[in-house]
Order: sequence, then C-alpha cells, then structure tokens
Amino acid sequence: MIAKKALGFPLKGLRFAIKSGDTLVKAASIQVTRFKTRFDENKTKNSLNEQPVAKRNYADTADQIDASNKEASVDMREFEFTKAPINWIPATILVATPIAAAIITPWYLFTHDVSAPVWGVFGAFMVWTGISITAGYHRLLSHRAYKAHPVVKNFLLLGSTLAVQGSAFDWVSGHRTHHRHVDDRLDDPYSAKRGFWFSHMGWMLRNYPSGKFDYKNIPDLTKDKTLRIQHKYYGLWVVALNVGMVAAIGWLLGDVWGTLVIVGLLRLVLTHHFTFFINSLCHMFGTRPYTDTNSARDNFFLALVTWGEGYHNYHHFFQYDYRNGVKWWQYDPTKWLIAGLSKFGLTTELRTVDDTTIKHAEVQMQFKKAQQQIDTAAVSGLDLPHAMKTFQDRIKFEYDAFTQTVEEWQALKAKTIELKKTEFADRLHEVDDKLKHDYAKIEQKILEHNSNLKTAFRSIGQNTKAA
Ligand SMILES: [Zn+2]
Ligand SMILES: [Zn+2]
Repeated sequence: MIAKKALGFPLKGLRFAIKSGDTLVKAASIQVTRFKTRFDENKTKNSLNEQPVAKRNYADTADQIDASNKEASVDMREFEFTKAPINWIPATILVATPIAAAIITPWYLFTHDVSAPVWGVFGAFMVWTGISITAGYHRLLSHRAYKAHPVVKNFLLLGSTLAVQGSAFDWVSGHRTHHRHVDDRLDDPYSAKRGFWFSHMGWMLRNYPSGKFDYKNIPDLTKDKTLRIQHKYYGLWVVALNVGMVAAIGWLLGDVWGTLVIVGLLRLVLTHHFTFFINSLCHMFGTRPYTDTNSARDNFFLALVTWGEGYHNYHHFFQYDYRNGVKWWQYDPTKWLIAGLSKFGLTTELRTVDDTTIKHAEVQMQFKKAQQQIDTAAVSGLDLPHAMKTFQDRIKFEYDAFTQTVEEWQALKAKTIELKKTEFADRLHEVDDKLKHDYAKIEQKILEHNSNLKTAFRSIGQNTKAA
C-alpha cells in the first residue's frame, strides 16, 4: 500500500505530462499540416482540415437535467437505428452478388474453360477497380492528398464507378464524416463500435440516420461538372461499365459469358469486400503506432488486399498524406502509383507529413505504452519489481528530455514563421540553410529519444510495438 501511495505522485505527474504532450503533438501536427498546405478555397480547406470532433460523452453527469436530456436524445437516435428501413438497391446488390458469385463461379469453372486472356483482363480489372477507389475516391477526392491530371482523374473515376461503391458525392461525403466522427456510434457512418458486420457492410443495407449525407462537407466536389454528371447518371454508368463494357470485352475475347462471370461478377464481389475490410478489419486487428485515440490499426496483411490502405492507424492520424504506408518499405502500391505518375507530371502537389512529426507521434505513443506498463505493474498494490522501478525512472527522465525537445521544436517553428515573414528574399536562402540545420538537430534528438525508449523497453523484456 505504501509503495502504491509513494508511486502515486510521480505517476500522476507523468500521466499529466503525457497528456499535455499529447495536446502539444496534436497542436503541432495541425500547425505543420496548415503550414505545408495551401488550398484555393477556404470553404474546401475548412471541410478537409476538420479534426475528429470530441468523443460523445455518454456518461456526462455534470448537469443532471442536461445529462438526462442528452441521454434521451441519444436513446432516441439509437432507437432510429433499430427501425431504419431497408435500403433496397444497395441491399439487393450487396446480398445478391456474393451469393451469385459463390454459386455461379465454381459451377462455371468446373463446366467451362476460361481462357488466359479472360484471366488477364480479370487481373487488370482487379487492379484498376481497387486502385481507383484508393487513389481516386479516397486519397484524391476525399483527402485532396495530391492533384491529378484530368486523364488520371477520369481514369480513376471510371474505375471507381466500375467498383459500384456509390457516386463520388456519396462515397466522399461519407468518408469525410467517418474521419470527423470516427468511432462515434451515432455519427460515424461505418462506426467500428457497432461491430464487424455493421462497419463491413451492414451500414449500407439500411437507411441508417448516420448514412444520410447532405453533401455540406464536399463543396469542392459539388462544383465539379464531371462529378455532377457521374452522380446524376450513376446507375446508368454502373450498368454501362459493369455489363456493357465487360460484355463487349468478352465479345472481343470470344467468351462473353466467361468474361461476365469472372471479370464482371467475381471481380466485383472481391473488390467490394477488399474495400470493406478497410472499414471493418482495419479498425479491429493490428497495431497502433501513431495514436490510440481511435480504433484504426496498421495491418500489413490487410495492406496486401487493400492496395496499401491497411496502414489505417497512420492514415487516421495523418489523413492528408498521400501515403498510407509511410515507411519506404511498407507495401503501399497506391503510394507508388501516385509518386510514379508525379515523375511524368501527371500528379502534382503530393502532400506529406514531415519525418520529424511522424517520428514524434511514434515516440509519443511509446511513452503512452510505457505509462500503461507502469500502471499495470502498480495496480497489484505490491512493490514494483526492481526492473520496473528502474524502467519507471528511465521513462520519467526520458520524458522530461523529450518535453524539452518538443519545446525547442515549437520555438523553432514559431521562429521559422516569423523569419519567413520578415526576411528579405535574397537572404531567405541563407535563413533556410540555417533552419534546415536546426530542424535536422531536432530530428536527431527525437530519434535518440526513440532509441532510448527502445532500450528501456528491452530492459523489461517488452517489444515497443503499441497494440
Ligand atoms: Zn477508418
Ligand atoms: Zn481516409
């Protein structure tokens, strides 16, 4: 008991320090994103730069009356979910196509020969459809993570339409709402808090209140003529591409039915569920190296089937980065495509978060994990083992040093802004060199904190991956 009490004060202090550090990181990353990004339209900028809103506090009892009103309204909204009417068109497509694919595809493959060219087109369409959603609907239109030449944009738009995942207006509006209200049971359209089934595809089967989009968060899209046409004639486009175009290719290959079954049906169902995994499994299984404030996870295996979107924890923390797998070795073909096209001038203004900010978020998470380790060890009420006590001291020492580095970094950023405002153009180059040097020093310090933390974790026999 005495040991627990004695630990209480430093633990509280450390917890407070981590909490303050957290706020600082958030403020820092918002500042960096703002500093690095320029948009033509303030309106667009506002809707794109929205940070997740504060989590709904279901147990807020500060004011009894207010709390009971809130509770009643939450109950009312929960009730609306239970009586949500069936969304017939999507429900029919989403239920009928997997059943049809599960029955027809094996039967067809047993009774017919499917030629290599048909399989070739199947492969090409898998890539085109999948990557159009990730590079097109997602990173280009939802997050404006880069700019694309009209040829690229329209090619991705066609592929996204072929994917049958709703018009760009619906997809993007829903996705921006997902980021803004992530994990909220009532406002996140595919909230992982409602379980695997709901976040995977259940949310599309009924007209849930959270799935009604008013397009207020997509002012940049609603003024785009091509996207307006796609939205207006969406059904027509879907049938023309998935049936008309696929059948025409089949006719050219001399196998209309084979192409319709393999390239049409099988490809559609596979790409549907691979994309849906991002909303379901990517919020359930994997690690959380950057933040544990939401359920999004990094998962290499899911990145394999989602064209790189499996690094969802990173994406939810730094959503404007054109990369999801931010490390050079992470499997993210969407990132490679966007970067590759930029070499030919077909994509421009690729937005990235700088390495220091990324590493800073990782280190911050490691401190949180260390705190959790200490808390868990302290809960038993017994004296902390010697190794854990040493670990606690090291973490405390390292956190103080880290806080100082962060303060230096903040001051440097403030100085950068000030200098850029006041320096004469001919001296900017000189100033830039000096700043680069100072930033490199900060980055080096953060890397050192990271390596010291790793050593500390090793001393208590833990790896540093935050789950
Ligand atoms: Zn998500
Ligand atoms: Zn996103």
